[in-house]
Amino acid sequence: MHTFEFIRPTDSAAAIAAAAQSKTAQQGADVRFMGGGTTLIDLMKLNVETPARVLDINRLPLDKIELMPDGGLKIGATVRNSDLAYDARVQRDYVVLSQAILNGASAQVRNMATVAGNLLQRTRCMYFRDTAMPCNKREPGSGCPAITGSNRTLAILGASEHCIATNPSDMCVAMAALEAKIHVQGPKGQRVIAFADFHLLPGSTPHRETVLESGDLITHVTLPPPIAGSKQLYLKLRDRASYEFALASAAVVLTSKGGKITQARIALGGVGTKPWRSQEAEAALHNKPANDVTFRQAAEAAMRGAKPQSENGFKIELAKRCLTHALRTAAAS
Ligand SMILES: Cc1cc2nc3c(=O)[nH]c(=O)nc-3n(C[C@H](O)[C@H](O)[C@H](O)COP(=O)(O)OP(=O)(O)OC[C@H]3O[C@@H](n4cnc5c(N)ncnc54)[C@H](O)[C@@H]3O)c2cc1C
Ligand code: SF4
Repeated sequence: MHTFEFIRPTDSAAAIAAAAQSKTAQQGADVRFMGGGTTLIDLMKLNVETPARVLDINRLPLDKIELMPDGGLKIGATVRNSDLAYDARVQRDYVVLSQAILNGASAQVRNMATVAGNLLQRTRCMYFRDTAMPCNKREPGSGCPAITGSNRTLAILGASEHCIATNPSDMCVAMAALEAKIHVQGPKGQRVIAFADFHLLPGSTPHRETVLESGDLITHVTLPPPIAGSKQLYLKLRDRASYEFALASAAVVLTSKGGKITQARIALGGVGTKPWRSQEAEAALHNKPANDVTFRQAAEAAMRGAKPQSENGFKIELAKRCLTHALRTAAAS
């Protein structure tokens, strides 16, 4: 295993300063903050991640879930996935988020995993995790063997000729639908990033997965005030019932009046190179009767731009059925 410095700062300013002091910080990949370590340490053991400096942020005071004056929720970066999923306010007002988290990984992993770490978890593309293989995401310019190789689980939305890897997070799909905001503190100060702008499409730079810059620390995530009367659901379809990543998933947040849908927020998982907000599906639902015809039309709209890889054409119909069923179930709840 690659050797590295291990530092345990106790406040955010010290963590950011320690990240900035790294000799090769300009290169971007050599400083890593560590939350639960369930992604980072795995990838370090595989030599996929080889940071010179690891900053354990578990001693920073970022582990609280707090109600904000506007009625929204402030979620600290090191809040464990389990604590967030079982928080009474989340279960009451943002149940889609609780369901998404509880559909991911295992109880043990969720007990360790943090909110910020989940936002930044890396793809499960098998070539990315195998340093004997080329991979543009791991080593820019080396090639993408998945395009002609094993791609059954990979993306049908947002792919490029350089990378077709899926974003694997369940939590992020719910956060996309809930329009979360990500709060960052870094060498250049503080900023707030809308969820839709946080993850990047692969384009010609698949190694850049988010808008974060070297040394940026996620301090917390905020959720807007709850949408009164909304019906919410996260549905995940996968090869086995637990401990498995999504082949297709859908997060839906709906409001309706007099049998018509007044507001819809739709995001998809397992199919996109980033957590996939579908404005096409939302437009197809707006002001339409809440029935199966409308739901299927929304699913067709969501998949209009889908481009299958050699092994995953089945995902298009799977994603349509997933969204249709999620909408039907949410509307009937
Ligand atoms: C066996 C297994 C099965 C899994 N199944 C699923 C699944 O079905 N669905 C799913 O969604 N996920 C699944 N996961 C992934 C899991 O959700 C992630 O590993 C976890 O959320 C990562 O959180 P962490 O705190 O452990 O991150 P870490 O490993 O600590 O960090 C991950 C990345 O985030 C960075 N980071 C962490 N905190 C910060 C911060 N505050 N600011 C800036 N950067 C930061 C780290 O530097 C690193 O690059 C699975 C994982 C395992 C091991
Ligand atoms: S799909 Fe992306 S992560 Fe997978 S091999 Fe290609 S470049 Fe690497």
